[in-house]
Amino acid sequence: MSRKASGNSGWHTETTAVHAGESVDPATRASSPNLVMSVTFAPEAVTGFSARDEQGYEGFIYSRVGSPTVAQLEAKLAALEGGEAALCFASGVAAAHALICGRLGRGDHLIVPDANYVGIAELTRDTLPRFGIEVSFVDMSRPEEVAAAIRPATRMLWLETPANPTMKLCDIAALAQLAHERGVRDVAVDSTYATPIATRPLQLAADFVVHSLTKYIGGHGDAMGGAVIGRKADIDALNLEATVHFGGVLSPFNAWLILRGAATLPIRMRAHEEAAFKVARFLEEHPAVSRVFYPGLPSHPQHALARRQMRNFSGMMTFQTRRPGPELAADMVRRLEIIHYAVSLGHHRSLVYWIGTDDIQASTYRHDATQLRRYRDYAGDGVFRLSVGIENPDDLIADLSRVL
Ligand SMILES: *Cc1c(COP(=O)(O)O)cnc(C)c1O
Repeated sequence: MSRKASGNSGWHTETTAVHAGESVDPATRASSPNLVMSVTFAPEAVTGFSARDEQGYEGFIYSRVGSPTVAQLEAKLAALEGGEAALCFASGVAAAHALICGRLGRGDHLIVPDANYVGIAELTRDTLPRFGIEVSFVDMSRPEEVAAAIRPATRMLWLETPANPTMKLCDIAALAQLAHERGVRDVAVDSTYATPIATRPLQLAADFVVHSLTKYIGGHGDAMGGAVIGRKADIDALNLEATVHFGGVLSPFNAWLILRGAATLPIRMRAHEEAAFKVARFLEEHPAVSRVFYPGLPSHPQHALARRQMRNFSGMMTFQTRRPGPELAADMVRRLEIIHYAVSLGHHRSLVYWIGTDDIQASTYRHDATQLRRYRDYAGDGVFRLSVGIENPDDLIADLSRVL
């Protein structure tokens, strides 16, 4: 088995999810993927010592550089995204950090969304400038503002769609074209909410896709991981620089769990979407609910873009209520019987969490009044983020009815 198998299988998505990256083990004829925990590998002949020597070597040497169970997951992810290669990391944030710091350096400029996943928002706002990377925060739903933000030093445009937690979308194809035409080398898309079942950013001219595997792809809330998918030459370079030097590699055990989760991703996404539609329509009609943001509903402000760009509307939504959020959240903690009041998302189990704009303001957007105003335009004083699981939606509706 080669370390970085190619991603293009030509199978349908359901078949790719089950079989890509996996094969019968030649030694034991085991049908399921082996969990290989070994850190080191005994080569059949003398090889080099550094990671550089290992590039081009088809076997494994040391598991920070490459490891068989992780490589199986990487091949499956590349196939699911229609990319040439993938590289896994210990978490979604480790993947984001590796990609940005593996591609950018002092004096380079990065454009990120004005409201995106809080961990990456804080990384780009607080940490990167200390290393000389300049960052601009732009409303990605306004291409003219993206165009105006591009400078000669702009090396990367970072997109997230749908965004966590606002559910704001951006047009990947239009923004990738705009960025490339103006000389921006890299367009990266955090596609954690969409998954490859909904959107394939590489086919829309993005250069990299980033996932928190902790969410839908792992899907069961028991393993943290992250991945970057892209062209083989770029992924090999990132492997050499980011995994080998930064060291945030995925554990083989987590890779094995995530492989198992990824096999059912297509059918889980269908179940998530079906249940989410039912729950979203219930919430939209409920007198205690003032607003629902779900890309599948015509009421979503970017529903037309969602229909164009998403083949599955996923299980993520936010809603706002007439009662103050913190008060209802306290009720949820005490009285919900099925849905867990907890962070994270994309698990088979439904999760809900109150995300108050004041909290976001305190941690993330306090420096920029425009950013905060735009966040508030979308999210008001705050939103309940609901990750609809694969339980029967009627039971979820009964659970929500109890507290609303
Ligand atoms: C959770 C999440 C991340 C970070 O992933 P971790 O696995 O928690 O490090 C990045 N982007 C989005 C959109 C997320 O939801």
